[in-house]
Amino acid sequence: MKREVIGFRRPEGFLRANRERGYRVMDKNQASWNKKAAIGIIENLEKRRMAGSFAESCAEALEEVVAMIPEGACVYRCGSVTSTAIGLWKRLEAMGKVKVIDPYLPGLSREESLKLRHEGFGADIMISSCNAITLDGRLVNLDGLGNRVAAMMFGPQKVILVVGINKVCADLDSAIARVKLYAAPVNAIRLGLDTACAHDGICHDCRSPQRICNMWSVIEGQQVPGRIHVKLVGENFGY
Ligand code: SF4
Repeated sequence: MKREVIGFRRPEGFLRANRERGYRVMDKNQASWNKKAAIGIIENLEKRRMAGSFAESCAEALEEVVAMIPEGACVYRCGSVTSTAIGLWKRLEAMGKVKVIDPYLPGLSREESLKLRHEGFGADIMISSCNAITLDGRLVNLDGLGNRVAAMMFGPQKVILVVGINKVCADLDSAIARVKLYAAPVNAIRLGLDTACAHDGICHDCRSPQRICNMWSVIEGQQVPGRIHVKLVGENFGY
């Protein structure tokens, strides 16, 4: 069945690149659901003193996130396939007007990477993603080391989370299930870890030293209004 492509602002090059990367273009019914779900989630985030906004495509999300970063800001890069997939880090590097604390730079020793993760707590802005977000606006994450969830909870002054629509879950139980059934095993495979899930795709509640399921966080709200901003993207991105 031929799919109708939504969004007249999407250049053909962007659509082609998405197809080549394996991302599926939404049909008009999915795009409509995405927007309706996002509007509801944003309303619920605001009730929790967080902020949210919706971008139909990764191209729009990229522009909108870049516009949120003031010149001269110090930005902490946390683990996020989504922010990498939309091209954010290459874009910030090309701009050259922000300082990026990047513990993922090639060639860093473990000690150097850890030092940068600590430094990131003092950044102006942290950019990452969530493992799942509920319809009522709760942010669900699971870390191996804990630097991402810790910084998200109480670190940089501003937290920007770029979240693909594929991470929307009905409630807390389904969000936790999503993380354990899918996000954690896929990330273990991505990172080439020696964990049971990396071998067969299923969580075995392992005790591997490389286990990435050590620190859960469920963020239900903020005391500092708008400190956390969730940029929902109407496309499937990240795990
Ligand atoms: S607990 Fe272990 S097996 Fe289960 S998802 Fe996490 S790393 Fe994989």
